[in-house]
Amino acid sequence: MFIKPDYNLKSIYDINLEELKNSGINAMLFDLDSTLMASKSGVYSKEVLEWLDKVRKDFFIAVVSNNKNPEYIEKVKKVSDFPLLFNAAKPETKAVTAFLKHHGVDVAKSVLVGDRPLTDVLCGKKLGCKTILVDSITADSEKKIVRFVRALERITVKR
Ligand SMILES: [Mg+2]
Repeated sequence: MFIKPDYNLKSIYDINLEELKNSGINAMLFDLDSTLMASKSGVYSKEVLEWLDKVRKDFFIAVVSNNKNPEYIEKVKKVSDFPLLFNAAKPETKAVTAFLKHHGVDVAKSVLVGDRPLTDVLCGKKLGCKTILVDSITADSEKKIVRFVRALERITVKR
């Protein structure tokens, strides 16, 4: 099985917001761990928060995360002032679809941004929205074994 994201980028900062806007996109859904913050850290960097503030001027923004750890969820809720969906069960679409409906988001005008082809990008494909694959936000400091597993998963990504 091959998965082809609409964009395959180094990081969220490489997302061309103007181009998305011009193509009719008005909502950006973000994976959380390794996409917006270091995995399981529960903390956004200042740079990420500043970037998100810029994004939300033109787009509805939300997090769709598979994480279901109650303590972690509480921690993230305290530092996020935009809608969050946890236990999203990506690549399944049921929970994400209900979440989007609840927030009045048109999936056809949305983009899903994440670091995992087989969960994030696949979920976006099944939803029928645009997809952006990014490298882990902490890619440069990850252990070799983690990088290796990521590289293996990316064999499924068609360039
Ligand atoms: Mg992730």
